[in-house]
Amino acid sequence: MALTGKTAVITGSTSGIGLGIARELARAGASVVLNSFTDSDEDHAIAAEIAREHGVAARFVSADMSDPEACRALVAQAGGCDILVNNAGIQHVARIEEFPPAKWDAIIAINLSSAFHTTAAALPAMKAAGWGRVLNIASAHGLTASPYKAAYVAAKHGIVGLTKTTALEVAGQGITANAICPGYVLTPIVESQIPDQMKTHDMDRETVIKEIMLARQPSGEFATTEQVGGTAVFLCSDAAAQITGTTISVDGGWTAL
Ligand code: NAD
Repeated sequence: MALTGKTAVITGSTSGIGLGIARELARAGASVVLNSFTDSDEDHAIAAEIAREHGVAARFVSADMSDPEACRALVAQAGGCDILVNNAGIQHVARIEEFPPAKWDAIIAINLSSAFHTTAAALPAMKAAGWGRVLNIASAHGLTASPYKAAYVAAKHGIVGLTKTTALEVAGQGITANAICPGYVLTPIVESQIPDQMKTHDMDRETVIKEIMLARQPSGEFATTEQVGGTAVFLCSDAAAQITGTTISVDGGWTAL
């Protein structure tokens, strides 16, 4: 299979988009290293299930992506990192004046700085191998803004910039760096925003989904974790070898508006 012999490290991958990407990379033959800040039986069971289903090596490594040393240790402990997927992310929704400084710091650390640390740790081996893929999971919010998401929008715009710089530093060495920019995908991070949005906009759940979330998404549909995972597999393919330093949107037309 296309990615047989490659090892992928996917941060924040026991749920949602990260898990979807891990499953699709495993389906394409890659060994996968799953990660979260937790270390539960369930985390390890998810890795075991992927190994069984796709006949690849899969394991779980606990590491807190808000801790720079832990980010670098994750790459070291993975025992290989041909494909690095920086996916871990959190969200907080509040007006700037009421935005807790600790939430700002946590979002910048997990959604942006972690990718700097893992990339720094992963590039030497990619350069030595003459092949590598860095996939940063940004967002439509890496290209456009929404109110009440100051830290998230800043971090996602930041990771698009980091993606471009990474691409330039490794250009011509068989390594590419790209950012995937999903629109709304119905995962736990989105579920957790619904109550805040209901409060902020004084709307019920269905109205928030239809009029706030999917109002920005012209297709009127959530993107799926399988679709984001399929995009990641494409960016790892030979067909994408000259695609680098750019963004690819999976957003139902959001950023075309
Ligand atoms: P999710 O909450 O299911 O996944 C986030 C993952 O990050 C979880 O597995 C969580 O355990 C992990 N994580 C959180 N803090 C961590 C930490 N300190 N260390 C290690 N792991 C940590 O949400 P998701 O929607 O799958 O989000 C994944 C990524 O996709 C995020 O970067 C998010 O910003 C981005 N994204 C999501 C959407 C969407 O609509 N769901 C849209 C655009 C971008």
